[in-house]
Amino acid sequence: MVSPESILIKNGYVITLDSKRRIFQNGSVYIKNKWIAEVGKSDALSSRNAELVLDARGMIVMPGLVDTHVHLAQALIRGCADDVSLVDWLKKYVWVLQGNFEGDDGKVSAELCMAEMIRTGTTSFIECMIHSRYGFDKIAKAVEQVGMRAALSKIIMDSTGYADSSDIMYPGMIEDHDACLDETDRMYNKWHGKADGRLEVWYGLRSLGAVSPDLFKEVVQLSEEKETHMTMHLGEIVDDVRYVRDNFNQTLTEFAEEMGLLTPRMVFAHGIHLDDNDLTRLAKYRANIAHCPSSNLKLASGFARIPDMLEAGVPVSIACDGGPSNNTYDMIREMRLAALIHKAKVSNPLVVPAETAIEMATLGGAVAMGLDNMVGSLETGKLADIILVNMREIGLTPNSNPVSNLVYAGIGHAVDTVIVNGRLLMNGKKLLTLNEDQVIDNAIEHSRALLERSGVDIQPKWPVQ
Ligand SMILES: [Zn+2]
Repeated sequence: MVSPESILIKNGYVITLDSKRRIFQNGSVYIKNKWIAEVGKSDALSSRNAELVLDARGMIVMPGLVDTHVHLAQALIRGCADDVSLVDWLKKYVWVLQGNFEGDDGKVSAELCMAEMIRTGTTSFIECMIHSRYGFDKIAKAVEQVGMRAALSKIIMDSTGYADSSDIMYPGMIEDHDACLDETDRMYNKWHGKADGRLEVWYGLRSLGAVSPDLFKEVVQLSEEKETHMTMHLGEIVDDVRYVRDNFNQTLTEFAEEMGLLTPRMVFAHGIHLDDNDLTRLAKYRANIAHCPSSNLKLASGFARIPDMLEAGVPVSIACDGGPSNNTYDMIREMRLAALIHKAKVSNPLVVPAETAIEMATLGGAVAMGLDNMVGSLETGKLADIILVNMREIGLTPNSNPVSNLVYAGIGHAVDTVIVNGRLLMNGKKLLTLNEDQVIDNAIEHSRALLERSGVDIQPKWPVQ
């Protein structure tokens, strides 16, 4: 039963993330259609009539996780560029593979990615840049069928540079000004607000060096007219800083401010190479940062100044980035890293406590998507985006403090049940809107063909007999 009219989740450890951050031991959540109707102690809600009752004994019940920077197309190229320099990572592997996508590759990758996100407790995500060759329409249709909540961003670019390197882009990754904006318009008209309100179409600005100032300004205006949002990578590499200094004599956020990019309708991914004034400016405009700790560690990009951002009032969320940079789409593991790495960086075990990591992965993500009045916490009147995490597992036992245990010992595969918009997408660790075996078979087949077509050879460094 994927879409019962009412669901009663009972006997769970309910972490609400409401304004008082209440937790209900032996708690219940009552769902009617797609809405949360009531949250409270199980005793108080036991008489509610429900078409489906879920016993959450031994489980955490919490808001679904929100991943604010996802490359759907990179699930299919997971592990294709490990332990290489950033330039090789892009030029020899990632861009070559993505630039050879064709047919159903984009859809197959999106389904693989969504299967993993659901298995590991993510209910909403921001896909940051869809190239026309990935097949925007097919991807949107897949999201509609699978049942997740998503902002799908169309790639926007008008030149072939990346930070201070010009003409660096792989030919298959290039799009021009008119094609980008035309496709965004068509997809916006077809999909924005569709799939029972679960889908949004955003502008996915390519990185600095690939978007001219005129195009930045044009997109800011278009996004205002359409009342939609924007996302882009910012300050992931130090070359970003050099690029705006050498070309515009500005810092990253001075440039962003002049372009009109500083707004609550913007999600900047990474935000590593930022100074104090940058943080003050981001906070002033409530522009969002998507923190991607795994990706930043693996590509040696550096440490985003998350404790300083939180102190300055910058809205921060957490994100998994992509298959070659993470290499998982597991937000629980990502929360763990977000809570761990800054402690060592600033020599203070008190920064980014478990509670803050969970806030960033739920409410922070909801703010980044502009949906904080609809999702991100378990409260009456919000949409029913809820996950159940089974804490009765060897690696999670004993479970004296479920909040910190989830963050420091947790792993996405402990997630048992996922509900989005009141609809069950997974129950008892079984995906209900995707055929997991089929997803795996398709991904293996398409990945093999893609590697062959693009001429990229992936081998362990050790001799394979
Ligand atoms: Zn990215």
